[in-house]
Amino acid sequence: MSCPHCQTPMHRAAAPPERWYCRTCTRYAAPGDTAADIEAHEAQRQHALALLDEALGERAVQREADRQIVTQMEADMGQTIQTRGCSKCGGTMYRTVETDDNGNPTGYTMFICGGCGHMES
Ligand SMILES: [Zn+2]
Ligand SMILES: [Zn+2]
Repeated sequence: MSCPHCQTPMHRAAAPPERWYCRTCTRYAAPGDTAADIEAHEAQRQHALALLDEALGERAVQREADRQIVTQMEADMGQTIQTRGCSKCGGTMYRTVETDDNGNPTGYTMFICGGCGHMES
């Protein structure tokens, strides 16, 4: 399938659940998604990133790097990634979210800080 936004051929994620990713604009699709569904996913992702921007404040350069890391992680892992600020070092913490076939969260891992390795739930 091709991305409805930019017509780039989408790549299937390596790990289940089945997800298809556009490497040009970072949209993703689950099996059976319509173009409108894909846009809804993207709107949710942008909303999450906007919240992340607020949370991280003025760390603009780091933020852009974090965003690229998160996008790459999601593409590689076929999972949704959540981030938040580390209470120990101010770095960015990550965790993966397991989702069912409808994209509803079914499980969470611990947050792990990319800066200091601190873990918390
Ligand atoms: Zn695209
Ligand atoms: Zn940390």
